[in-house]
Amino acid sequence: MDVKEIISKSSFSMLEGKINPKLLESLNAMNYEKPTRIQAKSLPYLLMGKDIIGAAKTGSGKTLAFLVPVIENLIKYGFTRKHGTGCVVLSPTRELALQTFQVSKKLLTHIDLSCALIVGGEKKAKDIMKLKKGINVIISTPGRLLDHLENPEILTCNNLKCLVLDEADKLLETGFEKHITQILNLLPDKRQTILFSATIDSKVKNLAKLALKSNPIVVSTNDEK
Ligand code: ADP
Ligand code: MG
Repeated sequence: MDVKEIISKSSFSMLEGKINPKLLESLNAMNYEKPTRIQAKSLPYLLMGKDIIGAAKTGSGKTLAFLVPVIENLIKYGFTRKHGTGCVVLSPTRELALQTFQVSKKLLTHIDLSCALIVGGEKKAKDIMKLKKGINVIISTPGRLLDHLENPEILTCNNLKCLVLDEADKLLETGFEKHITQILNLLPDKRQTILFSATIDSKVKNLAKLALKSNPIVVSTNDEK
């Protein structure tokens, strides 16, 4: 499956037979005409489990670009609720985390995997109730995630398959660098890491060096007209 093939067909029908039919059904229910450029360019690599740095301006559809492969890969791994956390998505703000959570809930409509929003400002007791049930996809802000990761009775990520650093430029702007470094130390190394950002500056590159495998694939639509 290459970029041309993805772009050439309308709707997400080119993913037929390539992703789980229940996931495709939810994706098609969103009624988008076709994938955006960043979705088309990054999906093939992400479905293969590669680490990538994805750069595309705000509003270009980066959320679906990572959520679709994240969910598809967990299904392929045979993940069920009892396997616990398979993916952590880090977002810079509660609002962005909430938006991502809403999209992931839609994608999981027909799939027996769980997702939860774990962000600052909520009661920790509420988080703990959710986490004790086992959450497959956690969408979180760094401070709150770290709080829970430091207490392994509540959250272990032993089965983690994927980490997403979303809006990486903003994650760093918001001063989360230290939290993220600590989080990386607590997560298993054997995982896929996906970094998406509107811009790639030297700080984002340094974060990528720390979090991603060496020589990640770089996908950008920022130079396109
Ligand atoms: P980004 O993270 O790049 O800023 P988002 O993932 O938040 O962008 O998406 C921006 C908007 O584009 C959202 O309203 C989303 O519903 C919409 N969108 C996502 N994918 C597509 C698509 N393939 N076609 C049209 N609109 C899309
Ligand atoms: Mg985004």
